[in-house]
Amino acid sequence: MWCHQPIFCLEKRLINLVYSKRMFSFRKLAHMYRTFWLPNNPVPPYDHVCQIGDPVLRTKAELVNPEEIMSDKIQLIIKKLRKTMKGYDAVGMAAPQIGIPLRIFAVEFSELKKEEFSKEIIQLREISSFPLKVFINPVMKVLNYTKVSFPEACESVKGFSALVPRFLEVRVTGLNERGEEVEWHCRGWPARICQHEMEHLNGGMFIDSMEKGSFEFPLWQKVNTRSGRLYLTFAPHK
Ligand SMILES: [Zn+2]
Repeated sequence: MWCHQPIFCLEKRLINLVYSKRMFSFRKLAHMYRTFWLPNNPVPPYDHVCQIGDPVLRTKAELVNPEEIMSDKIQLIIKKLRKTMKGYDAVGMAAPQIGIPLRIFAVEFSELKKEEFSKEIIQLREISSFPLKVFINPVMKVLNYTKVSFPEACESVKGFSALVPRFLEVRVTGLNERGEEVEWHCRGWPARICQHEMEHLNGGMFIDSMEKGSFEFPLWQKVNTRSGRLYLTFAPHK
């Protein structure tokens, strides 16, 4: 087709060309800037938490050879697990969440964390603090089959929560990070955390046990007040 305004057309084409090249360059530069420090092929144990959909979260984790607990490999996994749990300000984390399908989990509930809850909630949910504990090859026995439902969330299902019925009282036995036999009889909130982590080791997640209708994005109101401008990060907070 013949153009009746050849000069205008040429100008427009030039502008488009320059603009598209600039956009391409800008995007490329921004991408390079964002990914410059990232390894090309990250190898677990990761410093980040795997998200739902990652097959490692649906794999039944394997037993750790007790003779290898003090090895550099297992000690590194434990170190990364503790670091990642702290980095995400989580109260529990299982090895599959950092990409390692082994039966290891860590839990901790500090006094500072407890202060985030009201007295009523602490009493209702039977929340109590406990120091860091690492369980290797844990075995859980239910001591009280009464189930109680309270909100639960998971760093591997970032941003969401749901009511999850859990047994009131359990006993967890296993080995600690030094390969020593340990046993923990816990009730209420600590028992809930243990059940959540045990579920991870069996390839499960809280969304499998939740009351389905209660699944929610707790910040849904913010999505409305900010006209949808709410951003989630999957990186550690600290
Ligand atoms: Zn979880």
